[in-house]
Amino acid sequence: MNAVIPIQPAAMGCTDAPVLRERGQREVFCGLTGIIWLHRKIQDAFFLVVGSRTCAHLIQSAAGVMIFAEPRFATAIIDERDLAGLADCNDELDRVVTRLLARRPEIKLLFLVGSCPSEVIKLDLSRAAQRLSSQFLPSVRVLNYSGSGIETTFTQGEDACLASLVPSLPPAKADAAPALMVVGALADVVEDQFTRLFSAMELGPVAFFPPRHADRLPAVGPNTRFLLAQPFLADTAAALEARGACRLSAPFPLGVEGTTAWLRAAADAMGVAAERFDQVTLPARERAQSALARQRTQLAGKQIFFFPDSQLEIPLARFLSRELGMLLTEVGTPYLHRQHLAPELTLLPTGTVLSEGQHVDNQLDRCRAAQPDIVVCGLGLANPLEAEGFTTKWSIELVFTPIQGYEQAADLAELFSRPLLRRQKIHPTPAAKPPGSTTAVNAVGV
Ligand code: SF4
Repeated sequence: MNAVIPIQPAAMGCTDAPVLRERGQREVFCGLTGIIWLHRKIQDAFFLVVGSRTCAHLIQSAAGVMIFAEPRFATAIIDERDLAGLADCNDELDRVVTRLLARRPEIKLLFLVGSCPSEVIKLDLSRAAQRLSSQFLPSVRVLNYSGSGIETTFTQGEDACLASLVPSLPPAKADAAPALMVVGALADVVEDQFTRLFSAMELGPVAFFPPRHADRLPAVGPNTRFLLAQPFLADTAAALEARGACRLSAPFPLGVEGTTAWLRAAADAMGVAAERFDQVTLPARERAQSALARQRTQLAGKQIFFFPDSQLEIPLARFLSRELGMLLTEVGTPYLHRQHLAPELTLLPTGTVLSEGQHVDNQLDRCRAAQPDIVVCGLGLANPLEAEGFTTKWSIELVFTPIQGYEQAADLAELFSRPLLRRQKIHPTPAAKPPGSTTAVNAVGV
């Protein structure tokens, strides 16, 4: 059996590194996007967006191709009559919800999802949710959250959704044994892998939040130790802490190193012996390390630039630099939660350029000047940048794809090596990137 290598922080890391804070035009999807993965995770939930035709288009075009049965999301359209105050939106909403629940008895949890238009007309969805809940409980719980695009980025939709669910979690018994809660939507396959590892460690009760079914909400209380599986859950974490739960600080479970540190934080908090931990995790770690070695030959020395989009940027940058030898030209993130990301920042190479927020034109200029080998960005920037000769990776794909855990480490690396290989095949000699023409990007009007 190989010796276990402890995690070494980068020489000084980026704990106190200066951050370039930018405010300006931004390039992000709104929080409605979270419905796409959340409706697949909570299998008896329904997401009713109270919004405009634009909102309906966004959801249908982003998620429609993945629907094989009756969708579990829809949009109650606010039209001109509502906007002009000619109709009572609450009456209409009650009618829509009553019709929906009569037709879809399998729905156990209904989210009313606010949007820019519902916020503009100040439709009080929290009162609507309370009113409808009192009508439909106990068979259906109705909650609300905002997915509006004003001042948010797309992964905040999940944060808002889970935070709205926290008050519904049952209280844990005061004398209950410490229990672990994993917080953040993970693909079922990843959740199953972690469940197997936790059971092999005999770590005690483990719950996943959100659960797959609305009637399996985990209990929460002072004996709950929770581990964030995603770096974008600030409000959810605060709501759980307000219920007495204690957050375990750890890097996020991306790559072998991140996954090991994340699992170890849980194991330490739940009293699992170090030998037991190593015995359980070592085979998966070794498998993942050898799968990553193949990817490293493709990625080492390649420069990567992150535009702020998913809030996964810092954990991804840590994984790509430390386990694959990539060089970080800039790591942009929409929000930098210093407390939740502290273990990640320690591991980033000293001197990494960090930016928070966005001024898209300035950042495009820096990207063009840096001429990275690959750019991670939102859909709105990807095609224009490709047209300029850059290789890109859609950041939203990193949220839709199972990337956490040992078994997915090499798949995650491949998400970055594949576009580089593709470009190499199309342009066997390095593509000459035309000097910064702004026309292509500005043409998308974002
Ligand atoms: S940005 Fe606002 S209006 Fe546009 S789809 Fe999102 S919620 Fe709807």
